[in-house]
Amino acid sequence: MKWTTQRTRGLVVAGVVGTGTLFLAAVGPVARAGDLDLPAQEKTLENGLKIVVLEDHSIPNCAINIWWRVGSRNEHVGATGLAHFFEHMMFMGGAKYGDQFDVVMESQGGSNNAFTTFDNTTYQDWFPTTGLPLILDMERDRMSGMVFSTEKVEHEREVVHSEYRGDMEDPGARLNELFRATAYTSHPYQWDVLGWEADIKNWKQSDLEEFYTANYAPNNATLVLVGDVKAAEAFAEIEKALGAIPRKAERRPIHTIEPEQKGERRVVLEDANASLPQALCGWHICKTDDPDFPVLEVIEDILLDGESSRLNQALVEAEGLCLGVGGGWQGHQFDASLFTVELTMRDGLDTATGERRAYEEIAKLAKDGPTDRELRRVKNKNRAEFVRRLQTIDGKAAILGETDLFFGGWKNLSKRIERIEAVTADDVKRVTAKVFTQANRTVATLVNPTKTLHGPAKAAGGHEDADEDDEDGEDDEMPEGAKKPGGEGR
Ligand SMILES: [Zn+2]
Repeated sequence: MKWTTQRTRGLVVAGVVGTGTLFLAAVGPVARAGDLDLPAQEKTLENGLKIVVLEDHSIPNCAINIWWRVGSRNEHVGATGLAHFFEHMMFMGGAKYGDQFDVVMESQGGSNNAFTTFDNTTYQDWFPTTGLPLILDMERDRMSGMVFSTEKVEHEREVVHSEYRGDMEDPGARLNELFRATAYTSHPYQWDVLGWEADIKNWKQSDLEEFYTANYAPNNATLVLVGDVKAAEAFAEIEKALGAIPRKAERRPIHTIEPEQKGERRVVLEDANASLPQALCGWHICKTDDPDFPVLEVIEDILLDGESSRLNQALVEAEGLCLGVGGGWQGHQFDASLFTVELTMRDGLDTATGERRAYEEIAKLAKDGPTDRELRRVKNKNRAEFVRRLQTIDGKAAILGETDLFFGGWKNLSKRIERIEAVTADDVKRVTAKVFTQANRTVATLVNPTKTLHGPAKAAGGHEDADEDDEDGEDDEMPEGAKKPGGEGR
């Protein structure tokens, strides 16, 4: 939620590798695109649960990822934040294991994690293969129902409320909240994954029961198992454990489409505690499975990724207007998304100066396109990141699940790379010109009303030793927008 930190987009290993050091498997030389396909197998149970199994005998362990098509997108006003609440609840609400979920898993040498986004909630388990029947029984327990005792609900309400308050101590997080609510007028992407504070304080138990019943259905999930198993046996074990959980009624599709934006929107957040002026600029873009999406991945890399990116070179390195730039596409999304450019100004410098230079650089990309060298660098980097994710069993489980949900099925794995490889300079020019218009833009600025801001002329020679957050979040383990349980015990 640190909006000033450039997220590493989805191309990271989703999850924390517990305490394990066992998960690294050797890989050979960098593969060509077609080689990136994984020889997984799939089966869909009668209750609608989709299962993907990949045999990987490199270590005697397994990774299970359960990808639920349940995110803050499935909430409504008055009951926002429930997807994230359930990410917590699922570690304490099962009838059999209750709040002993982690204890039992750890007793088998396993570990786990989970994250919530606008579109999905994902639960990840890592464990020695001998623990498979137990882990599946634990998943059965929390897929079968929740025990909503008042005590549990109130305890966890306080935990997520305190997570919200902690996040919002950062003025950048409040700016992000305001920005989303301005950029979206209709679609549920307009609130953060954490939800609105008043909703967190006021959900009723019936809201929780309704949300669980509607969304936590086997027919809304993909279970990915990667590890030291025989696929046929694994399918049989999974079916034995989870096959009896009843299918639920199909949810009503989310039919809200954010109307086209026809004019720039600007909002200001004044905060006497804000240390540096910030501008959060965003443009509406397509959804993840759109043919233009790979072009936006390339555009993000050219403009924002790393030291050599254009906005970093111009605004931070050469001109010293900003202490940091970040942003990019907002994670894998089922519906039309946003692309942001986030500027943290040098102390005392107004955000208009940074905005103007960022827009000039974007206009230059639309007019002249990327250089051959830039395009090559970006494509190489994407391929390398992809290959890096395929080096571990948890990386493979995550990428299979993510591809299954957002790219039309796990079999499209290598197509994701091929589509990026196919992006041309003309594609970049065309999509940049189409997306980054003034009319399609929302800008939220953070200002400290007790400070005077000025243009760049007076900034020269100013002191600057501000500490800004790490710029590239290279080690982020969660997809953009994801919330993971805080340290206070889920
Ligand atoms: Zn949380």
